[in-house]
Amino acid sequence: MIPFNKPHITGKELWYIAQAHAKGQLAGDGSFTKKCQQWLEETTGCRKALLTHSCTAALEMAAILADIQPGDEVIMPSYTFVSTANAFVLRGGVPVFVDIRPDTLNIDETLIEAAITPRTKAIVPVHYAGVGCEMDVIMDIAKRHKLLVIEDAAQGVTAYYKGKALGSIGDLGALSFHETKNIISGEGGALLINNPSLIERAEIIREKGTNRSKFFRGEVDKYTWIDIGSSYLPGEIIAAFLWAQAEEADKINHIRLRQWDVYHNEFEELEQRRVLRRPLITKGCEHNAHMYYVLTDTHTRRNCMIKALKEQRVHTVFHYVPLHSSPAGKKYGRVHGAMKNTEELADRVVRMPLWVDLSDTEQERVVELVAATMDACERG
Ligand SMILES: *Cc1c(COP(=O)(O)O)cnc(C)c1O
Repeated sequence: MIPFNKPHITGKELWYIAQAHAKGQLAGDGSFTKKCQQWLEETTGCRKALLTHSCTAALEMAAILADIQPGDEVIMPSYTFVSTANAFVLRGGVPVFVDIRPDTLNIDETLIEAAITPRTKAIVPVHYAGVGCEMDVIMDIAKRHKLLVIEDAAQGVTAYYKGKALGSIGDLGALSFHETKNIISGEGGALLINNPSLIERAEIIREKGTNRSKFFRGEVDKYTWIDIGSSYLPGEIIAAFLWAQAEEADKINHIRLRQWDVYHNEFEELEQRRVLRRPLITKGCEHNAHMYYVLTDTHTRRNCMIKALKEQRVHTVFHYVPLHSSPAGKKYGRVHGAMKNTEELADRVVRMPLWVDLSDTEQERVVELVAATMDACERG
């Protein structure tokens, strides 16, 4: 079986974990956490990076920092992972779903302004497949309406929009190091803080609502409870694992990008025959090969293809069930405008196996079987 994803181990993970263990440094914010945060600050240009135990946790911190009150609205795509919405719903916020662009499957920036009401607090662009949303337009809208921008850059680690790292453009950015992402620690994430006025409160929220970070830096002589918060920091074992991955980030990207290009070249002919459409990288975007998906011409062919490939022991998968059509999405959110692209495109997405240790032979097999099943599905 060729799986859809297989986590890549760089080789130094256990060695770094052994170092944390030998030092007896197991709680969070030790030397490996500091190394990872510094790496993120240097490579993204954000003002402050804080490791979290997931991207979900980073989004929850962002919702607290945005001071979301019951009834406040947050504009986001419906074509995203549940955590994008859940983080705000947990604070009583209302996700307002707008449609996506047909080319990148990212939020359609031209629909955002019409969805703004006096209750709108934030815009949450999601960089699907590590391809940047139209951030210049989004930042301009946010500035004119005094809204916060929280980037869900879970899939965007080491990807860029007009030279700026994804997650470093809005007020806040949330990254994921889940094992299905490019750089991993099993579960893991980070909050990137670009708006300096949010740094101090972010540290407090992450440390159970206390000023413990200030205390450890010697800035206060005792620490105490001063705000709402939770425990959002990972232990050092996770950070040690992540550090081994961070050191190899360039190599990992290089291999993934090469595999992405292979799919892209091989599927050109199928695109010319109009049986599928390949992903589109918009101008100014440097993606990270987080994902290779194709859009089949019909929903029926997509499902037929996934099933046929599975019978040939190749695991391909569809992606999000749009949040506005989910039970919780209907209960807690609302849509603004038609969801035509979201509904139509979500039904046609198929994601290909793409992981560092996928061999050339295995990838060739995927390519050949995709071409064959596309035809078989048409006839069938
Ligand atoms: C993976 C993902 C998340 C959640 O990340 P976790 O680290 O698993 O919490 C959130 N949003 C998007 C768009 C994702 O792809």
